[in-house]
Amino acid sequence: MKITDLKVWVTKPEANGRSFVFLRIDTDEGISGIGEATSSGGGGSIVVGNMARFLRDSTVTTDFRTSLIGQDPENIDRIWHELYRRFTGGGGSGGFVTTLLSGIDIALWDIKGKVMGRPIYELFAGPIWDNIPLYTHVAPGDPDKAAAQARSLAAEGYTALKTDPFSPEMGKHHRRYMRGAISAAGAALGIDTIAAMREAVGPDVEILIDAHGNFNVPTAINLAHRLEPYDIGWFEEPVQPNSNEALRHVKESVNVPICVGERLYHRWDFVPILKDRLAEYLMPDILWCGGISEMRKIANLAESFYIPVSPHDASGPINILAGAHTMMAVPNFYMVEFNHAALNLHDAFISPKLDIRNGVLHLPETPGIGTELNVDYIEAHLDPDWE
Ligand SMILES: [Mg+2]
Repeated sequence: MKITDLKVWVTKPEANGRSFVFLRIDTDEGISGIGEATSSGGGGSIVVGNMARFLRDSTVTTDFRTSLIGQDPENIDRIWHELYRRFTGGGGSGGFVTTLLSGIDIALWDIKGKVMGRPIYELFAGPIWDNIPLYTHVAPGDPDKAAAQARSLAAEGYTALKTDPFSPEMGKHHRRYMRGAISAAGAALGIDTIAAMREAVGPDVEILIDAHGNFNVPTAINLAHRLEPYDIGWFEEPVQPNSNEALRHVKESVNVPICVGERLYHRWDFVPILKDRLAEYLMPDILWCGGISEMRKIANLAESFYIPVSPHDASGPINILAGAHTMMAVPNFYMVEFNHAALNLHDAFISPKLDIRNGVLHLPETPGIGTELNVDYIEAHLDPDWE
């Protein structure tokens, strides 16, 4: 079997929303695989979309320009390594490159599943689990509203809820990290929000805090101490990802579990986190870390350290499905992230839709990833910066 084409779409259904990158790999045997390579904001999805287009269209074969077209799609690891080395030789080792690779890798696993006639999760000597528990998001800003929403989501069956209670100030005024401090009022609003949520849901529902890397070290330590009485499940990205020394300083100074990983891009980024015991939970993003193949390697590495893995999901439906298929065969799997408020958007992109009941995702038993892209919908909502 040979790869004959790589199709890519950058779509933006909501004017003020984000852009999603979907792709499809076609073969000479009529089997196609789908993937997602959505980047984070700031136009990253356009960059990744153009990288995919360049990869498809580049015809020069000298100068280490290993191609995708013409390769056997079942040689997933070989393609991964050749493309990874092709695009990182000039510097950098993650980010846009691993995002592009993620989309390609997922599509190749979809093809392999279709060839074998089995869902992806059955290709790894699994499954270990019957289904995939999800956690979802509570909107911050008003402690009473957050408490009411937390109560209602817990009643729906969610056993863990995440929020960034400091984002009303930090998201607006300090996004992209400059000073890393928060005002007394902003901190108090955040702590009050978590206190109200804990009161509303009782002791049995996990409350997870995402700090989005917004804080400097003293602020992160101060807030972690003030969150302690509310028995939080984890304090995510207390500081920006670039300094493991800053993370170590926070880690050694607080008594709440730490979670990092959405901005770590491959197995090598996770080695110091595990070796130096800088986090209790890892949350690689399957669209940013290099796809199903790389997520499995990171999860296996974490298993050696008895560290649970909980995939980060802030993109589209293939993000969730690919992470879920992978986690079905990962013994140290914890939960998959999900935002119930984005469910209609996710479902517009695919058929069949996500099967979520009582806070749990049930995977399709059909071959491959178990869904197909709604290309008509995607093409009707292309990002204006793309076409
Ligand atoms: Mg996060």
